[in-house]
Amino acid sequence: MKQSVAILGATGSIGQSTLKILTEHSDDYQVYAVTGQHRITELVDICLQYQPKVVGIPSVQLDQFKKIAHEKKLQPLPELVFDEQGLVEISSNSEVDIVMAAIVGAAGLLPTLSAVKSGKRVLLANKEALVMSGDLLLSEAKKSGALLLPVDSEHNAIFQCLPESYFSHRNENKQPQLGLSQILLTASGGPFLHFDQSQLENVTPAQACKHPNWSMGQKISVDSATLMNKGLELIEACHLFSISEHFVTVVIHPQSIIHSMVQYIDGSTLAQMGNPDMCTPIAHALAWPKRISTSVQALNLFDVQKLDFYPPDHQKFPALNLAREAMRVGGTAPTILNAANEIAVQAFLEGRIKFTQITNLVAEMLNQVSAQVASNIENILQVDRHVRERSIAWIEDHGVPL
Ligand code: NAD
Ligand code: MG
Repeated sequence: MKQSVAILGATGSIGQSTLKILTEHSDDYQVYAVTGQHRITELVDICLQYQPKVVGIPSVQLDQFKKIAHEKKLQPLPELVFDEQGLVEISSNSEVDIVMAAIVGAAGLLPTLSAVKSGKRVLLANKEALVMSGDLLLSEAKKSGALLLPVDSEHNAIFQCLPESYFSHRNENKQPQLGLSQILLTASGGPFLHFDQSQLENVTPAQACKHPNWSMGQKISVDSATLMNKGLELIEACHLFSISEHFVTVVIHPQSIIHSMVQYIDGSTLAQMGNPDMCTPIAHALAWPKRISTSVQALNLFDVQKLDFYPPDHQKFPALNLAREAMRVGGTAPTILNAANEIAVQAFLEGRIKFTQITNLVAEMLNQVSAQVASNIENILQVDRHVRERSIAWIEDHGVPL
């Protein structure tokens, strides 16, 4: 019987790669539901090709959806669900076996949590949800039996290098288990790896969104340029693999061929390697523990020839240490970091702050707002809202005048 898949964020970069894999394996999987926030024409095209039963859109897009669906003769019309509540309904729908959580940012938190609570196989691309509420998501997964599988290429690589029994040994003391000594989280270094401080001051959104190795959505592209993406991933790794932040070392590896490594106490280092294409980790998480084919070319080491590794420059890229500090503080500190970063990235993309002000704002919010125990989802969402408001006010005071 075919497994039924819901893709939250189907119009995005991860959503598109997921659809590509599902097309190649249409004997085993069917697209049950898709969602999209903007790009409604693309969403209707997805409906024409995959005939999902349910589609999630913002209620303000209803007229636009109907108009384009009529023009493109989409028949029959799928069931439409709206806004956050609609996304939550999709991810808890009893007809759905697998949820691809590929909405960007905090907007993905409640739908992801709902998929986890409903015991689904959750393919986790939406790292911000885990950063905001890692303990909560993992404890809900334990209760419901949901399978939370990392799609982020680094975490998927680490997952592949760990023994399967690692996950039944999760414990609360945040010590590595089963002979693991350290995780080496690789980072490309982004488009500004070799820029100096004065050049960084004046980079544009277009430059920041032009990643050397990966083609991704705008937000994660800017995060990769500030190295905040690696900071978020450090927090993600601590939650997924139940370890403290000092067991995670960040290694700059500009070729993005090694997607991360795991070191063991006997001196072994295991790496997962491959051409940088998100179809590999998506296919791995979709079918695990089975392996399924993708159209990603196998690695040709004679073409690669050379792999470089550097330590990160914390002076130029303060984001990593901000994330480490937030993880050390714990509670809602990562929620504060994430909310400030989301507002800052948006403001940078709109030309309202400089690139270097992104991490200034995050540092400021971590200083100004005290972290609390992240006791429940309401508490986390309230901190998220509060930090967003304060961040907007900070930008009004310190941003570049339009
Ligand atoms: P994207 O911007 O290309 O797509 C985002 C998707 O989320 C779109 O479908 C959009 O319609 C939807 N969306 C945006 N705002 C929304 C809102 N408020 N409510 C509901 N839906 C909304 O982003 P992406 O690059 O596909 O990244 C998606 C997630 O996956 C991010 O969390 C990112 O960090 C993570 N991720 C991406 C990559 C990558 O290669 N692109 C790699 C690893 C992890
Ligand atoms: Mg990644």
